[in-house]
Amino acid sequence: MTAVAYGIVIAAVLLAVGVVIWDRRRTKQTMERLNAMVDRALAGNFTEDSYDESLLSALEAKLARYLAASAVTAGKVQGEKDRIKSLISDIAHQIRTPLSNVQLYAQLLAEQDLPAESRPCVAALEAQAEKLQTLIEALVKTSRLESGIVTLHPVSGLLNPMLESALEQLRPKAAAKGIALDLTPTAARAVFDPKWTEEAVVNLLDNAVKYTPEGGRVTASAAEYQFFTCVRVSDTGPGISEEEQPMVFQRFYRGPAHQTEEGVGIGLYLTRRIAEGQGGYVKVRSRQGEGSEFSLYLPKN
Ligand code: ADP
Repeated sequence: MTAVAYGIVIAAVLLAVGVVIWDRRRTKQTMERLNAMVDRALAGNFTEDSYDESLLSALEAKLARYLAASAVTAGKVQGEKDRIKSLISDIAHQIRTPLSNVQLYAQLLAEQDLPAESRPCVAALEAQAEKLQTLIEALVKTSRLESGIVTLHPVSGLLNPMLESALEQLRPKAAAKGIALDLTPTAARAVFDPKWTEEAVVNLLDNAVKYTPEGGRVTASAAEYQFFTCVRVSDTGPGISEEEQPMVFQRFYRGPAHQTEEGVGIGLYLTRRIAEGQGGYVKVRSRQGEGSEFSLYLPKN
């Protein structure tokens, strides 16, 4: 090979190496810009105009447009959440005041010397107003949980104090029905939001006391397993048929046999939302005529 040919080969090799280096550098710069874009989008301060169109490749330009659209959507979702939040508190506030007035007037009416035939009407008025109040409070709570307005704050702790406090709330109701209400003392721990979990346990205990006939027994206990800690509420009540069991956790579901009992069919639904909101779940085990056992599973870590 002549010197000229060698020169051409060397020049070609150098040119090829140069092109590869240049291409790598360009790819690296593009990747760095893409990386910076995604970082800014994750930090929530991405705007399309923070990048110079003329420098962007087609892929970068598309990603920039996509991220800008996502930022707009995220903004809209937040705006929608804020609107729901104020709507819920507006509705709750607007209804609460007239409702407590209705309750007050019904109470005043009940204290008066009424004809005997009017008494059942006043009693019904009081009961319906109370039911409406329970329903509104429960709806406000569930919609706050569902819309993410209220977030749960699970912390690691012992379950016993929370369970004791939940049982205390049900003592008068259980005593009035002659129901034995017991807590098996427990050293079990879990990661849970104490306030909301107590609300979930109170719902389970309230149902157990409500549906168990006089002279029955309601027991609460807790046990740790590998990944979850389980809070159990069992009763000696009427039980729930197998077909009905999947429905009891639905919103507004009320067992056909219990329509005359007080209630609005939202307690177990709220309990499920509270469990799921902190990475747990609820289960029921029951046989008709043989009592029920509700289990609330809470994460251990
Ligand atoms: P509510 O008690 O207001 O009806 P819940 O959501 O708490 O609403 O319960 C839904 C339904 O599940 C009840 O109507 C009842 O039929 C059934 N249920 C719940 N707990 C029990 C229980 N401990 N024993 C028997 N049935 C129950």
